[in-house]
Amino acid sequence: PEIIEHLRVEHELANISFNTWIKPLKIYDVLDDTIYILVESNASVEYIEKKYLLPLKVCIAEMLDEEYEIIFISEDDERINSIEKSRQTNVHSKKVKTAAEKAGLLPKYTFETFVVGKNNEFAYSSSLATAESPGKVYNPLFIYGGVGLGKTHLMHSIANFILENNQNAKVLYVTSETFTNEVIESLRTGRISESEPGMTKFRDKYRSADVLLIDDIQFIIGKIATQEEFFHTFNHLHSLGKQIIISSDKPPKEFEALEARLKSRFEMGLLADISSPDYETRMAILQKKIELDHLDRYKIPKDVIEYIAINIKSNIRELEGSLNKLIALYKLNNNKGDIDIELASEALKDYISPEDKREVTPELIIDIISEHYNVSISDLKSTKRNAEISYPRQVAMYLIRNMTDTPLKKIGALLGGKDHSTIKHGVDKISQDLKKDELLTNTISIIQKKINPS
Ligand code: ADP
Ligand code: MG
Repeated sequence: PEIIEHLRVEHELANISFNTWIKPLKIYDVLDDTIYILVESNASVEYIEKKYLLPLKVCIAEMLDEEYEIIFISEDDERINSIEKSRQTNVHSKKVKTAAEKAGLLPKYTFETFVVGKNNEFAYSSSLATAESPGKVYNPLFIYGGVGLGKTHLMHSIANFILENNQNAKVLYVTSETFTNEVIESLRTGRISESEPGMTKFRDKYRSADVLLIDDIQFIIGKIATQEEFFHTFNHLHSLGKQIIISSDKPPKEFEALEARLKSRFEMGLLADISSPDYETRMAILQKKIELDHLDRYKIPKDVIEYIAINIKSNIRELEGSLNKLIALYKLNNNKGDIDIELASEALKDYISPEDKREVTPELIIDIISEHYNVSISDLKSTKRNAEISYPRQVAMYLIRNMTDTPLKKIGALLGGKDHSTIKHGVDKISQDLKKDELLTNTISIIQKKINPS
Protein backbone atom coordinates (compact mmCIF):
# COMPACT_ATOMS: atom_id res chain seq x y z
CA PRO A 1 0.00 0.00 0.00
CA GLU A 2 2.80 2.49 0.81
CA ILE A 3 4.34 1.93 -2.58
CA ILE A 4 1.07 2.50 -4.34
CA GLU A 5 0.44 5.63 -2.33
CA HIS A 6 3.94 6.85 -3.15
CA LEU A 7 3.27 6.21 -6.81
CA ARG A 8 0.09 8.22 -6.69
CA VAL A 9 1.64 11.21 -5.00
CA GLU A 10 4.89 11.24 -6.91
CA HIS A 11 3.29 10.89 -10.27
CA GLU A 12 0.28 13.02 -9.52
CA LEU A 13 -2.10 10.45 -10.81
CA ALA A 14 -5.64 11.54 -11.35
CA ASN A 15 -8.08 9.74 -9.11
CA ILE A 16 -9.77 8.14 -12.01
CA SER A 17 -6.64 6.55 -13.50
CA PHE A 18 -5.46 5.59 -10.06
CA ASN A 19 -8.70 3.87 -9.20
CA THR A 20 -8.95 2.17 -12.54
CA TRP A 21 -5.45 0.92 -13.03
CA ILE A 22 -3.34 0.99 -9.93
CA LYS A 23 -5.64 0.30 -7.05
CA PRO A 24 -6.73 -3.15 -8.24
CA LEU A 25 -3.16 -4.40 -8.62
CA LYS A 26 -2.12 -7.14 -6.26
CA ILE A 27 1.25 -8.59 -5.53
CA TYR A 28 1.09 -12.18 -6.65
CA ASP A 29 4.49 -13.25 -5.46
CA VAL A 30 8.06 -12.18 -4.93
CA LEU A 31 10.65 -14.64 -6.13
CA ASP A 32 14.30 -13.74 -5.86
CA ASP A 33 14.48 -10.29 -7.36
CA THR A 34 11.27 -10.37 -9.35
CA ILE A 35 7.92 -9.06 -8.24
CA TYR A 36 4.92 -10.59 -9.96
CA ILE A 37 1.94 -8.32 -10.00
CA LEU A 38 -1.48 -9.62 -10.71
CA VAL A 39 -3.60 -7.60 -13.11
CA GLU A 40 -7.34 -8.23 -13.23
CA SER A 41 -7.68 -8.83 -16.90
CA ASN A 42 -5.32 -9.94 -19.58
CA ALA A 43 -6.43 -7.08 -21.78
CA SER A 44 -5.08 -4.40 -19.48
CA VAL A 45 -1.63 -5.96 -19.00
CA GLU A 46 -0.17 -4.31 -22.04
CA TYR A 47 -1.52 -0.89 -21.22
CA ILE A 48 -0.37 -1.00 -17.60
CA GLU A 49 3.03 -2.20 -18.65
CA LYS A 50 3.44 0.66 -21.06
CA LYS A 51 2.22 3.31 -18.76
CA TYR A 52 3.14 2.24 -15.25
CA LEU A 53 6.00 -0.23 -15.38
CA LEU A 54 8.75 2.32 -15.19
CA PRO A 55 7.19 4.57 -12.53
CA LEU A 56 6.40 1.54 -10.42
CA LYS A 57 9.93 0.24 -10.73
CA VAL A 58 11.35 3.57 -9.69
CA CYS A 59 9.02 3.83 -6.73
CA ILE A 60 9.92 0.37 -5.53
CA ALA A 61 13.61 1.02 -5.92
CA GLU A 62 13.28 4.28 -4.01
CA MET A 63 11.28 2.83 -1.20
CA LEU A 64 13.01 -0.48 -0.73
CA ASP A 65 16.46 0.66 -1.75
CA GLU A 66 16.61 -2.39 -3.98
CA GLU A 67 15.89 -2.88 -7.62
CA TYR A 68 13.32 -5.46 -8.67
CA GLU A 69 12.20 -6.82 -11.97
CA ILE A 70 8.48 -6.36 -12.33
CA ILE A 71 6.30 -8.70 -14.27
CA PHE A 72 2.61 -8.11 -14.73
CA ILE A 73 0.52 -11.21 -15.11
CA SER A 74 -3.13 -12.01 -15.25
CA GLU A 75 -4.96 -15.01 -13.84
CA ASP A 76 -5.04 -16.77 -17.20
CA ASP A 77 -1.39 -16.17 -17.94
CA GLU A 78 0.54 -19.33 -18.71
CA ARG A 79 3.40 -18.08 -16.64
CA ILE A 80 1.37 -18.64 -13.52
CA ASN A 81 2.13 -22.32 -13.81
CA SER A 82 5.85 -21.84 -13.86
CA ILE A 83 5.68 -19.41 -10.97
CA GLU A 84 3.71 -21.98 -9.03
CA LYS A 85 6.34 -24.51 -9.79
CA SER A 86 9.29 -22.46 -8.68
CA ARG A 87 7.30 -21.40 -5.67
CA GLN A 88 6.76 -25.02 -4.76
CA THR A 89 10.37 -25.97 -5.24
CA ASN A 90 11.33 -22.98 -3.11
CA VAL A 91 8.94 -23.98 -0.37
CA HIS A 92 10.03 -27.53 -0.78
CA SER A 93 13.72 -26.80 -0.52
CA LYS A 94 13.04 -24.81 2.61
CA LYS A 95 11.18 -27.70 4.14
CA VAL A 96 13.92 -30.22 3.65
CA LYS A 97 16.56 -27.96 5.14
CA THR A 98 18.62 -30.27 7.27
CA ALA A 99 19.59 -29.57 10.83
CA ALA A 100 23.11 -28.87 9.56
CA GLU A 101 21.92 -26.24 7.12
CA LYS A 102 19.82 -24.61 9.77
CA ALA A 103 22.91 -24.39 11.92
CA GLY A 104 24.62 -22.45 9.14
CA LEU A 105 27.00 -25.24 8.18
CA LEU A 106 28.33 -25.83 4.70
CA PRO A 107 27.53 -29.38 3.61
CA LYS A 108 30.72 -29.58 1.55
CA TYR A 109 32.94 -29.12 4.57
CA THR A 110 33.14 -32.68 5.90
CA PHE A 111 35.82 -35.10 7.04
CA GLU A 112 35.39 -36.93 3.73
CA THR A 113 36.36 -33.90 1.67
CA PHE A 114 39.26 -33.00 3.95
CA VAL A 115 42.63 -34.17 2.66
CA VAL A 116 44.87 -35.41 5.43
CA GLY A 117 48.60 -34.69 5.29
CA LYS A 118 51.45 -34.39 7.76
CA ASN A 119 50.58 -30.76 8.34
CA ASN A 120 47.09 -31.43 9.63
CA GLU A 121 46.85 -35.08 10.66
CA PHE A 122 46.95 -34.31 14.35
CA ALA A 123 44.25 -31.66 14.06
CA TYR A 124 42.24 -33.99 11.86
CA SER A 125 42.35 -36.98 14.19
CA SER A 126 41.64 -34.90 17.29
CA SER A 127 38.69 -33.34 15.50
CA LEU A 128 37.35 -36.71 14.47
CA ALA A 129 37.76 -38.09 17.98
CA THR A 130 35.96 -35.05 19.36
CA ALA A 131 33.13 -35.44 16.86
CA GLU A 132 32.76 -39.11 17.75
CA SER A 133 32.39 -38.47 21.45
CA PRO A 134 31.60 -34.82 22.10
CA GLY A 135 32.36 -33.64 25.60
CA LYS A 136 34.22 -36.85 26.41
CA VAL A 137 37.78 -36.61 25.12
CA TYR A 138 39.25 -33.19 24.54
CA ASN A 139 37.51 -30.24 26.07
CA PRO A 140 38.00 -27.64 24.80
CA LEU A 141 39.53 -28.55 21.48
CA PHE A 142 41.57 -25.60 20.34
CA ILE A 143 42.56 -25.65 16.65
CA TYR A 144 45.03 -23.06 15.47
CA GLY A 145 46.93 -22.17 12.32
CA GLY A 146 47.41 -19.52 9.68
CA VAL A 147 44.83 -18.28 7.20
CA GLY A 148 43.41 -20.61 4.61
CA LEU A 149 44.79 -23.79 6.15
CA GLY A 150 41.54 -25.57 6.89
CA LYS A 151 40.40 -24.52 10.38
CA THR A 152 36.90 -23.58 9.30
CA HIS A 153 36.67 -26.70 7.17
CA LEU A 154 37.50 -28.85 10.21
CA MET A 155 35.08 -26.99 12.49
CA HIS A 156 32.23 -27.52 10.04
CA SER A 157 33.25 -31.17 9.63
CA ILE A 158 32.94 -31.74 13.36
CA ALA A 159 29.56 -30.03 13.53
CA ASN A 160 28.25 -31.80 10.43
CA PHE A 161 29.41 -35.14 11.78
CA ILE A 162 27.74 -34.67 15.15
CA LEU A 163 24.46 -33.60 13.57
CA GLU A 164 24.53 -36.48 11.16
CA ASN A 165 24.72 -38.88 14.05
CA ASN A 166 22.28 -37.04 16.22
CA GLN A 167 19.74 -34.75 14.58
CA ASN A 168 18.69 -33.44 17.95
CA ALA A 169 22.05 -32.40 19.28
CA LYS A 170 22.12 -28.68 19.89
CA VAL A 171 25.12 -27.72 17.83
CA LEU A 172 25.92 -24.04 17.72
CA TYR A 173 28.53 -22.87 15.24
CA VAL A 174 29.33 -19.16 15.22
CA THR A 175 32.14 -16.96 14.11
CA SER A 176 33.51 -14.74 16.82
CA GLU A 177 32.13 -11.86 14.80
CA THR A 178 28.59 -13.16 15.17
CA PHE A 179 29.21 -13.87 18.83
CA THR A 180 30.45 -10.30 19.38
CA ASN A 181 27.57 -8.80 17.45
CA GLU A 182 25.08 -10.76 19.51
CA VAL A 183 26.69 -9.57 22.71
CA ILE A 184 26.50 -5.97 21.49
CA GLU A 185 22.91 -6.41 20.41
CA SER A 186 21.78 -8.02 23.62
CA LEU A 187 23.50 -5.43 25.76
CA ARG A 188 21.72 -2.76 23.79
CA THR A 189 18.26 -4.25 24.23
CA GLY A 190 19.16 -5.04 27.81
CA ARG A 191 19.97 -1.42 28.46
CA ILE A 192 16.53 -0.30 27.39
CA SER A 193 14.66 -2.25 30.00
CA GLU A 194 15.55 -3.19 33.52
CA SER A 195 15.03 -6.90 33.24
CA GLU A 196 17.62 -7.29 30.49
CA PRO A 197 15.55 -9.44 28.14
CA GLY A 198 18.27 -9.18 25.53
CA MET A 199 20.91 -10.71 27.73
CA THR A 200 18.54 -13.41 28.92
CA LYS A 201 17.82 -14.45 25.37
CA PHE A 202 21.50 -14.50 24.54
CA ARG A 203 22.34 -16.62 27.56
CA ASP A 204 19.49 -19.02 26.91
CA LYS A 205 20.80 -19.55 23.43
CA TYR A 206 24.44 -20.13 24.25
CA ARG A 207 24.09 -21.90 27.53
CA SER A 208 21.74 -24.51 26.19
CA ALA A 209 24.18 -25.72 23.54
CA ASP A 210 25.48 -29.28 23.62
CA VAL A 211 28.33 -28.34 21.34
CA LEU A 212 29.59 -24.81 20.90
CA LEU A 213 32.02 -24.00 18.11
CA ILE A 214 33.54 -20.53 17.92
CA ASP A 215 35.56 -19.79 14.81
CA ASP A 216 38.39 -17.23 14.76
CA ILE A 217 38.40 -16.43 18.46
CA GLN A 218 41.26 -13.96 17.91
CA PHE A 219 38.70 -11.32 16.95
CA ILE A 220 37.17 -11.11 20.41
CA ILE A 221 40.47 -10.32 22.03
CA GLY A 222 40.41 -6.92 23.63
CA LYS A 223 36.63 -6.61 23.45
CA ILE A 224 35.98 -6.47 27.16
CA ALA A 225 32.25 -7.18 27.30
CA THR A 226 32.46 -9.96 24.74
CA GLN A 227 35.43 -11.59 26.45
CA GLU A 228 33.60 -11.46 29.75
CA GLU A 229 30.47 -13.02 28.28
CA PHE A 230 32.50 -15.67 26.52
CA PHE A 231 34.30 -16.52 29.74
CA HIS A 232 31.03 -17.17 31.55
CA THR A 233 29.56 -19.10 28.64
CA PHE A 234 32.68 -21.22 28.55
CA ASN A 235 32.61 -22.00 32.26
CA HIS A 236 28.95 -22.78 32.22
CA LEU A 237 29.15 -25.23 29.31
CA HIS A 238 32.40 -26.76 30.45
CA SER A 239 31.10 -27.50 33.92
CA LEU A 240 28.17 -29.32 32.35
CA GLY A 241 30.51 -31.41 30.23
CA LYS A 242 29.37 -29.80 27.00
CA GLN A 243 31.83 -29.78 24.13
CA ILE A 244 33.59 -26.55 23.22
CA ILE A 245 35.68 -26.15 20.08
CA ILE A 246 37.62 -23.03 19.31
CA SER A 247 39.71 -21.97 16.36
CA SER A 248 42.27 -19.23 16.17
CA ASP A 249 45.06 -17.95 13.99
CA LYS A 250 47.55 -18.38 16.82
CA PRO A 251 48.12 -20.44 19.96
CA PRO A 252 46.83 -19.11 23.30
CA LYS A 253 50.31 -18.30 24.54
CA GLU A 254 50.63 -15.67 21.85
CA PHE A 255 47.60 -13.71 22.96
CA GLU A 256 49.20 -10.82 24.74
CA ALA A 257 46.19 -9.02 26.04
CA LEU A 258 44.22 -12.14 26.63
CA GLU A 259 43.42 -12.40 30.26
CA ALA A 260 45.26 -15.15 32.05
CA ARG A 261 42.02 -16.82 33.03
CA LEU A 262 40.94 -17.25 29.41
CA LYS A 263 44.39 -18.45 28.40
CA SER A 264 44.43 -21.12 31.03
CA ARG A 265 41.02 -22.33 29.96
CA PHE A 266 42.05 -22.62 26.35
CA GLU A 267 45.04 -24.63 27.41
CA MET A 268 43.18 -27.07 29.64
CA GLY A 269 41.95 -29.16 26.75
CA LEU A 270 43.88 -30.05 23.64
CA LEU A 271 45.83 -27.69 21.40
CA ALA A 272 46.02 -28.87 17.80
CA ASP A 273 47.86 -26.93 15.17
CA ILE A 274 47.64 -26.95 11.40
CA SER A 275 50.69 -25.88 9.46
CA SER A 276 51.34 -25.33 5.77
CA PRO A 277 50.85 -28.40 3.58
CA ASP A 278 53.81 -30.05 1.91
CA TYR A 279 53.99 -30.59 -1.83
CA GLU A 280 52.30 -34.01 -1.81
CA THR A 281 49.43 -32.73 0.26
CA ARG A 282 49.00 -29.74 -2.02
CA MET A 283 48.86 -32.07 -5.01
CA ALA A 284 46.30 -34.26 -3.22
CA ILE A 285 44.16 -31.25 -2.36
CA LEU A 286 44.16 -30.08 -5.98
CA GLN A 287 43.23 -33.56 -7.20
CA LYS A 288 40.44 -33.76 -4.65
CA LYS A 289 39.06 -30.43 -5.72
CA ILE A 290 39.17 -31.45 -9.39
CA GLU A 291 37.20 -34.54 -8.49
CA LEU A 292 34.65 -32.83 -6.21
CA ASP A 293 33.99 -29.88 -8.51
CA HIS A 294 33.83 -32.09 -11.61
CA LEU A 295 36.72 -30.31 -13.25
CA ASP A 296 38.05 -33.53 -14.77
CA ARG A 297 36.19 -32.69 -17.97
CA TYR A 298 38.77 -29.97 -18.60
CA LYS A 299 41.53 -32.57 -18.70
CA ILE A 300 44.03 -30.37 -16.97
CA PRO A 301 47.51 -31.77 -17.74
CA LYS A 302 49.45 -33.14 -14.81
CA ASP A 303 52.34 -30.74 -15.26
CA VAL A 304 49.94 -27.81 -14.95
CA ILE A 305 48.61 -29.13 -11.66
CA GLU A 306 52.17 -29.65 -10.49
CA TYR A 307 53.05 -26.15 -11.53
CA ILE A 308 50.29 -24.77 -9.29
CA ALA A 309 51.24 -27.03 -6.39
CA ILE A 310 54.89 -25.99 -6.65
CA ASN A 311 54.14 -22.31 -6.66
CA ILE A 312 51.35 -21.86 -4.15
CA LYS A 313 52.75 -22.98 -0.86
CA SER A 314 51.22 -21.50 2.18
CA ASN A 315 47.50 -21.07 1.72
CA ILE A 316 44.97 -23.64 0.57
CA ARG A 317 42.37 -21.05 -0.25
CA GLU A 318 44.85 -19.57 -2.73
CA LEU A 319 45.63 -23.01 -4.05
CA GLU A 320 41.97 -23.49 -4.85
CA GLY A 321 41.67 -19.92 -6.05
CA SER A 322 44.37 -20.35 -8.65
CA LEU A 323 42.73 -23.48 -9.99
CA ASN A 324 39.45 -21.57 -10.32
CA LYS A 325 41.24 -18.72 -12.00
CA LEU A 326 42.83 -21.11 -14.46
CA ILE A 327 39.45 -22.51 -15.47
CA ALA A 328 37.97 -19.02 -15.68
CA LEU A 329 40.75 -17.88 -18.02
CA TYR A 330 40.21 -20.93 -20.16
CA LYS A 331 36.49 -20.22 -20.41
CA LEU A 332 37.25 -16.61 -21.24
CA ASN A 333 38.99 -17.90 -24.36
CA ASN A 334 35.75 -19.69 -25.21
CA ASN A 335 37.22 -23.02 -24.19
CA LYS A 336 39.73 -22.76 -27.00
CA GLY A 337 43.48 -23.06 -26.72
CA ASP A 338 45.28 -25.27 -24.28
CA ILE A 339 45.33 -25.43 -20.57
CA ASP A 340 49.09 -25.20 -20.29
CA ILE A 341 51.83 -23.78 -18.10
CA GLU A 342 51.56 -20.46 -19.86
CA LEU A 343 47.89 -20.10 -18.96
CA ALA A 344 48.69 -21.31 -15.45
CA SER A 345 51.36 -18.70 -14.96
CA GLU A 346 48.85 -16.09 -16.05
CA ALA A 347 46.38 -17.50 -13.51
CA LEU A 348 48.95 -17.43 -10.75
CA LYS A 349 49.98 -13.83 -11.28
CA ASP A 350 47.55 -12.60 -8.63
CA TYR A 351 48.70 -15.14 -6.12
CA ILE A 352 52.45 -15.35 -6.26
CA SER A 353 53.88 -12.63 -4.14
CA PRO A 354 57.04 -12.33 -2.14
CA GLU A 355 56.34 -14.70 0.77
CA ASP A 356 54.67 -13.40 3.90
CA LYS A 357 54.90 -9.70 3.15
CA ARG A 358 51.67 -9.21 1.35
CA GLU A 359 50.68 -5.92 -0.05
CA VAL A 360 47.22 -4.52 0.55
CA THR A 361 45.77 -4.17 -2.93
CA PRO A 362 42.21 -3.48 -4.07
CA GLU A 363 42.10 -7.03 -5.49
CA LEU A 364 43.00 -8.50 -2.12
CA ILE A 365 40.29 -6.42 -0.45
CA ILE A 366 37.70 -7.57 -2.99
CA ASP A 367 38.76 -11.20 -2.43
CA ILE A 368 38.40 -10.92 1.31
CA ILE A 369 35.05 -9.11 1.11
CA SER A 370 33.82 -11.85 -1.19
CA GLU A 371 34.86 -14.50 1.27
CA HIS A 372 33.65 -12.66 4.34
CA TYR A 373 30.15 -12.00 3.04
CA ASN A 374 29.99 -15.14 0.94
CA VAL A 375 29.21 -13.14 -2.20
CA SER A 376 30.93 -14.01 -5.45
CA ILE A 377 33.42 -11.60 -6.97
CA SER A 378 31.34 -11.40 -10.13
CA ASP A 379 28.31 -10.35 -8.08
CA LEU A 380 30.40 -7.68 -6.39
CA LYS A 381 31.33 -6.38 -9.81
CA SER A 382 27.80 -6.65 -11.17
CA THR A 383 25.07 -4.04 -11.09
CA LYS A 384 22.80 -6.15 -8.91
CA ARG A 385 21.05 -3.98 -6.40
CA ASN A 386 19.80 -6.34 -3.73
CA ALA A 387 21.17 -5.50 -0.33
CA GLU A 388 23.05 -8.78 0.20
CA ILE A 389 25.24 -7.81 -2.71
CA SER A 390 25.15 -4.04 -2.82
CA TYR A 391 26.06 -3.59 0.84
CA PRO A 392 29.25 -5.70 0.70
CA ARG A 393 30.05 -3.86 -2.52
CA GLN A 394 29.82 -0.55 -0.70
CA VAL A 395 31.96 -1.90 2.12
CA ALA A 396 34.53 -2.83 -0.55
CA MET A 397 34.43 0.71 -1.91
CA TYR A 398 34.92 2.10 1.57
CA LEU A 399 37.81 -0.18 2.48
CA ILE A 400 39.63 0.21 -0.82
CA ARG A 401 39.32 3.95 -0.41
CA ASN A 402 40.59 3.89 3.15
CA MET A 403 43.23 1.19 3.01
CA THR A 404 44.84 1.98 -0.34
CA ASP A 405 45.32 5.17 -2.25
CA THR A 406 43.30 4.12 -5.26
CA PRO A 407 41.45 6.99 -6.94
CA LEU A 408 37.65 6.81 -7.07
CA LYS A 409 37.65 6.32 -10.80
CA LYS A 410 40.01 3.37 -10.60
CA ILE A 411 37.89 1.80 -7.83
CA GLY A 412 34.90 2.14 -10.14
CA ALA A 413 36.77 0.35 -12.90
CA LEU A 414 37.83 -2.45 -10.56
CA LEU A 415 34.25 -2.94 -9.44
CA GLY A 416 32.91 -3.63 -12.88
CA GLY A 417 32.94 -0.17 -14.41
CA LYS A 418 30.99 2.04 -12.02
CA ASP A 419 31.29 5.79 -12.26
CA HIS A 420 33.11 7.77 -9.64
CA SER A 421 29.97 9.28 -8.13
CA THR A 422 28.63 5.79 -7.37
CA ILE A 423 31.87 5.02 -5.58
CA LYS A 424 31.79 8.27 -3.67
CA HIS A 425 28.21 7.60 -2.64
CA GLY A 426 29.17 4.11 -1.42
CA VAL A 427 32.14 5.37 0.56
CA ASP A 428 30.05 8.14 2.15
CA LYS A 429 27.22 5.76 2.94
CA ILE A 430 29.48 3.42 4.90
CA SER A 431 31.22 6.32 6.67
CA GLN A 432 27.81 7.61 7.76
CA ASP A 433 26.61 4.18 8.86
CA LEU A 434 29.75 3.66 10.88
CA LYS A 435 28.85 6.63 13.06
CA LYS A 436 25.69 5.00 14.29
CA ASP A 437 26.07 1.29 13.75
CA GLU A 438 28.14 -0.57 16.30
CA LEU A 439 27.71 -3.92 14.57
CA LEU A 440 29.06 -2.52 11.34
CA THR A 441 31.98 -1.03 13.22
CA ASN A 442 32.79 -4.48 14.57
CA THR A 443 32.42 -6.09 11.15
CA ILE A 444 34.66 -3.54 9.46
CA SER A 445 37.34 -3.91 12.07
CA ILE A 446 37.32 -7.68 11.61
CA ILE A 447 37.53 -7.42 7.84
CA GLN A 448 40.39 -4.96 8.21
CA LYS A 449 42.24 -7.43 10.39
CA LYS A 450 41.67 -10.13 7.81
CA ILE A 451 43.12 -7.88 5.15
CA ASN A 452 46.03 -6.73 7.21
CA PRO A 453 46.62 -8.85 10.32
CA SER A 454 49.43 -6.68 11.67
P1 ADP B 1 40.88 -21.26 7.54
O1 ADP B 1 39.57 -21.31 8.26
O2 ADP B 1 41.97 -21.93 8.29
O3 ADP B 1 41.26 -19.87 7.13
P2 ADP B 1 39.43 -22.76 5.57
O4 ADP B 1 38.96 -23.88 6.40
O5 ADP B 1 38.44 -21.72 5.21
O6 ADP B 1 40.71 -22.08 6.20
O7 ADP B 1 40.07 -23.39 4.24
C1 ADP B 1 40.27 -22.63 3.06
C2 ADP B 1 39.86 -23.47 1.87
O8 ADP B 1 40.77 -24.54 1.71
C3 ADP B 1 38.49 -24.07 2.02
O9 ADP B 1 37.83 -24.06 0.78
C4 ADP B 1 38.78 -25.51 2.44
O10 ADP B 1 37.79 -26.39 1.99
C5 ADP B 1 40.10 -25.78 1.77
N1 ADP B 1 40.91 -26.73 2.54
C6 ADP B 1 41.69 -26.42 3.60
N2 ADP B 1 42.32 -27.50 4.07
C7 ADP B 1 41.91 -28.53 3.29
C8 ADP B 1 42.20 -29.92 3.26
N3 ADP B 1 43.06 -30.48 4.12
N4 ADP B 1 41.60 -30.66 2.31
C9 ADP B 1 40.75 -30.13 1.43
N5 ADP B 1 40.45 -28.82 1.39
C10 ADP B 1 41.01 -28.02 2.31
MG1 MG C 1 38.30 -19.77 8.80
